[in-house]
Amino acid sequence: MRGYGNLIEGYRRFRAKQSGLLRRQWRQLAEAQSPRAVIIACCDSRADPATIFDADPGDIFVVRNVANLVPPFEPNGGRDGVSAAIEYGVTQLNVPEIVVIGHEKCGGISAVLTGRFRDARVGEGGFVGRWMSQIDDSAQAIAQKHGTSPKAHRLLEEAAIRQSMANLRTFPFVVEREQKRSLVVLGCHFSIREGELWVLEEAEGKFRPV
Ligand SMILES: [Zn+2]
Repeated sequence: MRGYGNLIEGYRRFRAKQSGLLRRQWRQLAEAQSPRAVIIACCDSRADPATIFDADPGDIFVVRNVANLVPPFEPNGGRDGVSAAIEYGVTQLNVPEIVVIGHEKCGGISAVLTGRFRDARVGEGGFVGRWMSQIDDSAQAIAQKHGTSPKAHRLLEEAAIRQSMANLRTFPFVVEREQKRSLVVLGCHFSIREGELWVLEEAEGKFRPV
């Protein structure tokens, strides 16, 4: 089959591995889903949450976008796919956790830090520039102090995770459940080179390896 790269070969391996037990699991999943967490992750092909968390189908409800950003609560904000997914996961699937996961060498973070797409036209990086302008303030503050060094990238990757967590807490249904302790909001950062996950300890404001 043409047009799928080698993805169809992967699909055939997936089908070949389906034993009776797996087929039964899929049939159960077809009835309903009850994921353990909503994950907000980057689109980056190297930072796949299902791989990092060794998750099975049905385990995690994943929203991916450039640089794992959550825009603030905007009831009249238009076609907001991120808010729709968060709303569905939290209020309809009643997940007990939301995890924002950023990662090393994030292209979106690099773009905003270096101003690469700041005035770009749509089709030439304009959509990325506009999307990433959400963290312009943090990017400028970090660039003033650290330029565009590897440290600046890491700091902005972490700042974006913190901002997404803060923005999650502008959603009334998130705050309500967090106060009732039926929902936990977590932030973490994945190092591609080391294959290592760092989690934000909010009390001390620092990321630490798990
Ligand atoms: Zn990324």
